[in-house]
This record gives sequence, structure tokens and C-alpha cells, in this order.
Amino acid sequence: MSSVKVDARRIWKISPSGYTQLQESPEFKSDGTCIVYWMSRDQRIQHNWALLAALEESEKRNVNCMIIFTLVPVFLDATLRQFDFMLQGIAEAQKEAHSLGIPFHFVLEKDPAKAVVSFAKKVHAGAVFTDFDPLKIKLQWKSDAAKALQCPFYEVDAHNIIPARFISQKTEFAAYTIRPKVHRLLPEFLTPFPSITSKKHDSEFPQEFIVQDVLKKVNVRKDVTPVTTFVPGTSAAKQHLQKFINKKLEHYHDKRNDPNAGYVSDMSPWLHFGNISAQTVALQITSAKSVKESIDGYLEELIVRRELADNYCLYTSDYDNFNGFHSWAQTSLHAHRSDAREYVYSQQQFEYAETHDPLWNAAQREMIQTGKMHGYMRMYWAKKILEWTHTPEEAQAIAIYLNDTYELDGRDPNGYTGIAWSIGGVHDRAWFERPIFGKIRYMNANGCKSKFDVKKYIATHSSQNQGNSLFP
Ligand SMILES: Cc1cc2nc3c(=O)[nH]c(=O)nc-3n(C[C@H](O)[C@H](O)[C@H](O)COP(=O)(O)OP(=O)(O)OC[C@H]3O[C@@H](n4cnc5c(N)ncnc54)[C@H](O)[C@@H]3O)c2cc1C
Repeated sequence: MSSVKVDARRIWKISPSGYTQLQESPEFKSDGTCIVYWMSRDQRIQHNWALLAALEESEKRNVNCMIIFTLVPVFLDATLRQFDFMLQGIAEAQKEAHSLGIPFHFVLEKDPAKAVVSFAKKVHAGAVFTDFDPLKIKLQWKSDAAKALQCPFYEVDAHNIIPARFISQKTEFAAYTIRPKVHRLLPEFLTPFPSITSKKHDSEFPQEFIVQDVLKKVNVRKDVTPVTTFVPGTSAAKQHLQKFINKKLEHYHDKRNDPNAGYVSDMSPWLHFGNISAQTVALQITSAKSVKESIDGYLEELIVRRELADNYCLYTSDYDNFNGFHSWAQTSLHAHRSDAREYVYSQQQFEYAETHDPLWNAAQREMIQTGKMHGYMRMYWAKKILEWTHTPEEAQAIAIYLNDTYELDGRDPNGYTGIAWSIGGVHDRAWFERPIFGKIRYMNANGCKSKFDVKKYIATHSSQNQGNSLFP
């Protein structure tokens, strides 16, 4: 590793009582013999600040560094589709770690905190490092681990370019409140990564796991099958990014809202699983020779909007329910609870794309069959669920269930925040009052018609075109 140090503003000590920013350097248990990196959200080897921090510490202490990934057999609404994508990416990371002389242990265990604590004890860890994730389930795992670990425990934000706990200590109101902070701090944090070079290692290397064997043991829905639209792993992510920059970036600013055109980057599945770092993407986009509006527009989504979503989930534990909405939105939605609904559908009718609206059904089909719905359609899709259910609570729960079940990039702060924006006005402003929506921004099919060829989109994702079965 080169001599670049990991910025201490990324590192927080986790103790049973909470998180404190690293003041000096990490501590090390006096009888420790190695450093452990508990990989979770950032599933890659290079360009990973959490692994770099663990390696830096191991070099300073002259001890080995090892990685552990703990797989739970059930995770939120993830299905075979996402487990397969994720495991193939982790298998690639395990091979890469081994080729660099870093042992990568893979453990299937329903209690990840227990798995990490017992591993740390077995290998005599002097300290454990992990990556940052604002989702409640991950915070709970870390809190459980902090209570039982016998050595210092650190979290390193390897997902955000500007560390989420550092940029803000409260829920930001909207993009306009976080944007100036992002732009002010970006030059300090958007720096190149040191690369990891081969290590000498004198402990045993675990056998590499077989994806198909692990998939037989997980307890998830298996009718939502893997998709062929996205190739898992870091190498595929890097290749895909390069193609986007070469062929599509210049039209991102004027064609990104057209779901037929295909000028978005489609990077979200790899970003979600941490196969590629947003910082790597931002560095390449910034240095691309392309249209300025496209570069600026892309960085706005990748940095401001994405990091705003992490901020929302970090400081709003109700990010996945009605209580997370602003009070103006709650009041307004309450006032319209008894408004008549022209159409009301059950979760199953939504799931099977059985609404009266061919545009909505096409979006649902796109998600089920490709594993990724176009970003513009996601807004329309979620807002119509609000319009066609009995309550906003039901709408939000159905949207989260469908998003987390079918999208490769689901179960992500971006998803919870995008749904809260669509249904609960989070990060948005109050609009004109109208039935059911109250002051929440409304969208209709005519709005879509003014942006793109709706008939073409419906035809692309119709049952005639794709066969009658919704499930690939
Ligand atoms: C109802 C709803 C649900 C959503 N669910 C998810 C989800 O589950 N997972 C997810 O990653 N995103 C979600 N989004 C945000 C956004 O739609 C997707 O990130 C985007 O469509 C991903 O496609 P892309 O990579 O081609 O985007 P591009 O337009 O190429 O953007 C590049 C990257 O910027 C980030 N980005 C883009 N738009 C947003 C946004 N509005 N908010 C936050 N980050 C953004 C993403 O990381 C994305 O990969 C949702 C939005 C809505 C309205």
C-alpha cells in the first residue's frame, strides 16, 4: 500500500454506548495478533477505505490483516436474484483478496454479530474494522457486536465520498441544504485511492466458497430468479462504467428521463453492493472528456442525491414508515385519508402487474424481468401506488416490498428515500392540494407522454413482447 493515510474523519469508534469520531489513532488490544475487516456493504477489495484502514493498522502493528464476510440466510425481502448477484461478486472479491495475500473468510450464520465475535476471538484480533451502512438492521448487528467484542471496534465510511457522519449530524431538509456542504468538502474528499499491493501472510487461507453450494442453503424466495441483464462483480462494474462514459455520458443531461433511450448509467446494482466505489465512479466521470451539463448532472445524482439518501436513513430511524415524513406531509395525507379512490388494488394485483394502467404495468414488468426499473418510471410507479391503495401506510409498505423483492439495487437507502419522496414528500416541498395526494407532488401519464414515447415503452415491456409469464 502506498503511504496515503485514510482520512480520520471517515473513522468512528463503535462502543456499546454509541459512536465517537476517531480522535487520534485506532487502539489495539495488547495481546492481539491480527486486524480483522468485517466486510459488509462495500463488497470489493481495491478502492475500499475500510479495508485500507484495516491494512494501514495491520502494517503499523506489523500483524496480519484478514477479511470476514458473514452471510445471513434471510435478508429483508431479498430473493435468489439478489443473493446470486451478491455472492458472485463476493466470490470474485475473495479470489482477489487471496491473490494479494489477504485471507478472506466466508461464514454463513444467521447471527452475524455472533459470527464476527467468535471469529475475532479465535484469531486473537487486536481490532475489528467494518464499513458504514445506515440501515437499521446493520446498525443492530454492529451494536450487538460492540457489546460482545473483546477488542476495539471501528467503522469506516467506504460508501460515501464525504463520510455521512461527518458531513452532517442531523436529518438534512432537502437537497438544497446538503448541496453546499457537498460542494465545499468535495475537493478534500474526492481524492485518488492508494492501490493495495501483495502482502506477505503467514496464516492459513480458507478454502474459496462455491456460490451454487451456498445458494442451496439460503432461505429465500427462489421463484425470483437471477437476471442476465447485469453481470455481477467488480470487473463487470468497471467495464460497464467505461462503456457508459465512452458511449452515453454526453447525452445523460438531455436523455436521462427517457426510459426508451437507455442513456442512464445503470450503475446502481454495482453501487448498491459496493462492487465499485462511488468515489471511483466520480473520479472517472470528473476526468471524462464530455459535455459539462452531463458531467454536472451525473455528479448531482451520484453524490448529492445518493449521499442525501444515506443522510436520511442515518438520522431518521422511521425511514421506512409514515412517521419519517415531514409534519406538513403527514398532516396533509391525514386530511385526505377518506377521499374516494377510483381504483384500489391489492399487493398481489400490483405484483402481477394487473392494474388498469398499461404504463404502470409496463414499469412493473420492466422491474420483474430486468431487475431494474428506469429511474423516471420509479417516481410514477410509486405515486400511483399511493393513488390506488386505501392508505399511505399501505402504499409505502407495498412499494418497499416490491422494490426490495425485484430490484437488484433494492434494500438500499436510495430506495427507502425514493419511496418516501414519492409517497411522503421527503426532501420535496408542498404542492397544490389535490385529492388523495394532499400536498404531495402529483404525477400522471400525460406528464410521461410529454417526456417520452409512452406507447413504445409499453410495447417493450408488454406481455405480448415478453411472453405471458411475469417471472423470467
Ligand atoms: C420510488 C423510487 C425507488 C427507488 N429505489 C431505488 C433503489 O432501490 N435503489 C437505488 O439505488 N436507487 C433507487 N432509486 C433512485 C434512482 O431511481 C436510482 O438510483 C436510479 O434509477 C438508478 O439507475 P442508474 O444507476 O441508471 O441511475 P443514473 O441516473 O445513471 O445515476 C447514477 C447513480 O446516481 C445515484 N442516483 C441516481 N438517482 C438517484 C436518486 N433519485 N436518489 C439517490 N441516488 C440516485 C444512483 O447511485 C445511481 O446509480 C429510487 C427512486 C425512486 C423514486
